[in-house]
Amino acid sequence: MDALRVVRPQGGDAPRVNAFFLSLYRQPAAEFADLRGAEHTAQIRAEEREKREDAFRAGTLPAMFCSPTMELGVDISDLNVVHLRNVPPTPANYAQRSGRAGRSGQPALVMTYATTGNNHDQYFFRRPGLMVGGSVSTPRIELGNEALVRSHVHALWLSETGQKLPPSVAELLDMTGDEPTLALLSDLLTPFQDEGVGRRTLERARQLIADLGVDLNGTGWYSDEWLAYTVRQAPREFDRACDRWRDLYRSALSQLHLNNAVLADAGKRHLQEQARRLHAEANTQLGLLRSPDGERSDFYTYRYLASEGFLPGYNFARLPLSAYIPGRRNAKGKNDSYLSRPRFLALSEFGPNAIVYHNGAKYEAHKVIVPARGETSELPTVSAQRCEACGYLHHGADAAARDVCENCGAPLAPPRPNLFRMTSVATRRRERIGSDEEERRRVGFEVKSGLRFATRGGTTDRVQAEAAAQTGPLLHLTYGDGATLWRINYGWRNRENPHELGFLFDPETSQWLSAVGYERKVKAAGGRGVPVQRVIPYVEDTRNVLLVEPRVSLDAAGMATLMSALKNAIQLTYQLEDSELAAELLPDSAAPRQILLYEASEGGAGVLGDLVFRSGALGEVARAALGLLHFDPVSGADLNHAPHATERCVAACYDCLMTYGNQGFHALLDRFLVRELLLELRGAQPSVQGGGDTHLGDLLAACGSDLEREWLHFLHEGGRRLPSHAQLLVPDHYARPDFAYAEQAALVFIDGPHHDGPGQSARDARVREDLELAGYTVISFNYDRSTWPAQLARYAFVFGEG
Ligand SMILES: [Zn+2]
Ligand SMILES: [Zn+2]
Repeated sequence: MDALRVVRPQGGDAPRVNAFFLSLYRQPAAEFADLRGAEHTAQIRAEEREKREDAFRAGTLPAMFCSPTMELGVDISDLNVVHLRNVPPTPANYAQRSGRAGRSGQPALVMTYATTGNNHDQYFFRRPGLMVGGSVSTPRIELGNEALVRSHVHALWLSETGQKLPPSVAELLDMTGDEPTLALLSDLLTPFQDEGVGRRTLERARQLIADLGVDLNGTGWYSDEWLAYTVRQAPREFDRACDRWRDLYRSALSQLHLNNAVLADAGKRHLQEQARRLHAEANTQLGLLRSPDGERSDFYTYRYLASEGFLPGYNFARLPLSAYIPGRRNAKGKNDSYLSRPRFLALSEFGPNAIVYHNGAKYEAHKVIVPARGETSELPTVSAQRCEACGYLHHGADAAARDVCENCGAPLAPPRPNLFRMTSVATRRRERIGSDEEERRRVGFEVKSGLRFATRGGTTDRVQAEAAAQTGPLLHLTYGDGATLWRINYGWRNRENPHELGFLFDPETSQWLSAVGYERKVKAAGGRGVPVQRVIPYVEDTRNVLLVEPRVSLDAAGMATLMSALKNAIQLTYQLEDSELAAELLPDSAAPRQILLYEASEGGAGVLGDLVFRSGALGEVARAALGLLHFDPVSGADLNHAPHATERCVAACYDCLMTYGNQGFHALLDRFLVRELLLELRGAQPSVQGGGDTHLGDLLAACGSDLEREWLHFLHEGGRRLPSHAQLLVPDHYARPDFAYAEQAALVFIDGPHHDGPGQSARDARVREDLELAGYTVISFNYDRSTWPAQLARYAFVFGEG
């Protein structure tokens, strides 16, 4: 019992006093007076970080709190105590981290804290031998990951252009004038668009990929056209990668201009003080963006391009969002900085009015960094439909409202028009946090995922597999390579009206509005309209995803249990940390149908594909799960509790299913709900379905007319080559041929009778001539089927010999 927290019972004996704490508190504070500590993380500016390292080395800073950045590189020879806040993910990390102490051969003390409620920590607490020894899995990296390979192709391309990039992104862009275009400088465009550069990059990339010794052709996304396309797109992607910087810069610039105007306007004297502060803040932001401090700054060009995913990079947040943290007053903006977080985390951590802790202080994310357009800065929004039955996403520029889900066929609600893709934010210092804010923070935001499989060459990139035992099907698995994943923030979980989604935004101040703030504004307006926007923030990324749909009946409790069992067992089998694998119930936890699993880092270790494609992998995980859930993996007998524990685990405990992160599900978890399923799964081999004709199926589905479908069947039955795309929009030509062959650069038009009209045929001729001039082979078929064989023969280099 915790003697410190026991309330003294009325009239009873005084609780036993803990002698240790008694003497601790009686010690004069003098001994602690010098006990200072400081953070050492990637979030601290490089210059400051080095200062702290020096102070720590010299002993004037007695304690340093480090993130894994300290694991590598920094060497402090007379360090003799290391305290690990958690059990490291693998013995290799343990060796690295603990090895920071005792570098000059002196004895060293290493303490490892095993957190209550953290499965990983508790597992190793009971098995300390495995924490420091045992087999170390080879670090895994998924070489067949599209984004990873693409970034390496970009790196080759950049080196072929012969451009050494300046330290600041600002030096790449046209910065002249009051409202700079921020377009790429023409000095860069010339080498970027050089044909020789493209050709040489292609050669080197082919060679590099051949040398990898990995068959990328089996990945579903890789092909020679993919490579050619990636090289061709490199200049455009480079340009796009500069966009986050541009947004931050434009926003700071507009803040500067607006407040300049206020300062110059004597009639606005009452606003001067605020304007002076915002003006100074904008100036600092511009400075941080223009002159990054050293290679470790988030805005150092190469590092920035890596974080945007354009170049390879492994050690820091990819595709981050930034939060501007104002420096302390009097310090003349010296401490101002931008914090970066991976966008999936930033959605909540930098969410509307979220509290951000940094360097020992509290900040509130009160404002959205959005470039002003004119007087106000309305947030740009998009429209999308998320299937409430399966979580599938329907969005995109040309996505008209759909009635039914593309993935599962369930009816869809009308599109939500007010989805706002989260951008970077600005914060302000907060001294105090009220108790209702504290409560709101504790329950957090209601965040749900939506996903959409990638489309390549007209085909939906997903692999379906069925894991079955003799008794029948067990799990339906759908694996998607580089699927689009949205995380959507619907609002605070404890909001008053659960049907009211999203957050109020004030386009005049770019700030989030509380309900109270909104009322105040309405009152102040005295009946006039108040500009306000209600938006639902989301972030987007691509991930390899695995959907698990049980073929046996499981209720919400069973689904929650299966999700936790699979997640914990996969982490154990592949030595992943709790934070490296995300699991979620779709469409939501109240009525779940599927379990969505994705690796938290882009690319990741390729674990999810392994489960589908490697024979035996699923069985290994099932056996690990049984062991974890206190069942004998061979007989299935109930072992009642974990080996070290004494109390019987009735339904779930922190040794099996419960973790700190799944507290919302604790009441539902029951290891017996999934025992039979896991036992059956031990021998189940996922058999991959489909293949072969799915491409034809996808093409047929994309057809705009029966004539086109007939033409496809004619082609297929004659053994000819099928098009790579259907209904592909040709960039820059506003033409949408019925079919395209990417490799042969050929476009096919299937003309129904209405193309015979005089206006239409003249238009057709003009468009097709333009396309031919642009280098495409244009092939037209008309509705007279008897002419088709001759046309196919004439273009055998496109359609194949048949
Ligand atoms: Zn659906
Ligand atoms: Zn248990």
